[in-house]
Amino acid sequence: MLLWNLVRGILPVGYCLHRKIPSFDPLCMRCEAPVETTIHVFRDCPNSSAFWSLLFNHLAPPGFDFHSFFNSSPTDRLCFNLTNSFTWKTIFVVGIWHLWNTRNMAVFENKMLFLNSTFNKFWVDYHHTLNLKQGQAAGSSSSTDSITRKWAPPHKGHFKLNTDGSWMALDNAGGGGVMRCEKGLWQVGFAINFNAMSAAAAELLAIKEGLLIVWARDIKQLELEIDAEALKMMLEDPDAFKNHDLGNAISDVVSIICRNWKVSIFHVNRSINCVADKLAAMGRSKIRRGEISLFHYPPAELFQDYASDIPEMVAI
Ligand SMILES: [Zn+2]
Repeated sequence: MLLWNLVRGILPVGYCLHRKIPSFDPLCMRCEAPVETTIHVFRDCPNSSAFWSLLFNHLAPPGFDFHSFFNSSPTDRLCFNLTNSFTWKTIFVVGIWHLWNTRNMAVFENKMLFLNSTFNKFWVDYHHTLNLKQGQAAGSSSSTDSITRKWAPPHKGHFKLNTDGSWMALDNAGGGGVMRCEKGLWQVGFAINFNAMSAAAAELLAIKEGLLIVWARDIKQLELEIDAEALKMMLEDPDAFKNHDLGNAISDVVSIICRNWKVSIFHVNRSINCVADKLAAMGRSKIRRGEISLFHYPPAELFQDYASDIPEMVAI
């Protein structure tokens, strides 16, 4: 219905309403452009173009022509998008739907959604739609896939931090991690490059960095998930490891854990920790010596891993 109205140019955007009711102000409520046309809502409003740019970074099909997307007429573009691959069609339709919702929230509820929220909502729906379609195509109503590999979101009211280290040598080491909310959605991620004496030291440095990032966001209940079982034991009983090589690094991390918040530590298999694992590899191999990168959106190279971690029935 939305697409139908869009093609026929009769969506109730500011411009159309103003033509029917001259006293109606056609202004865009999101960016205050003087006239809100259909193309403004879905493409030209800074909020919408930022959304598409973010989406293209992650999901544009191979050979996708950015120029024709941004410069063709609305009808041409719609035809282009709808004749493209199934995946792109799904992305496009779900994207349009979320832009329309975001616009309506601004107009009717006076709520400006952050790009991050629109994108996360889009992503959950897109992923869900795709799973549904693939399930239908395979003629099955249940997916065994979802039980073979399971990252689970944290308990209600908690955030979850997954961290990992990546180590080859003292000067070829790094760490990474991601914090997600109880719906499994990306909040912040990092990749860091540092010197570390051993793989375990790299793990600890990654945990420390991750905890500091989360602490700075004023989170009060955190689940820390790591794939090194020995470290979990050390962090839970630091006194027993005082004279260990890693004694200082352990007490550093423990002093952060003991601040005024609740941190529970969990051990998971490496395959379940794969988003953090990839961030750590990125920290070791792609980040400049001694530097850190923060990611407010999942980086393209691990987007699929992040996506498959999102629970299917997440309610927004
Ligand atoms: Zn606008």
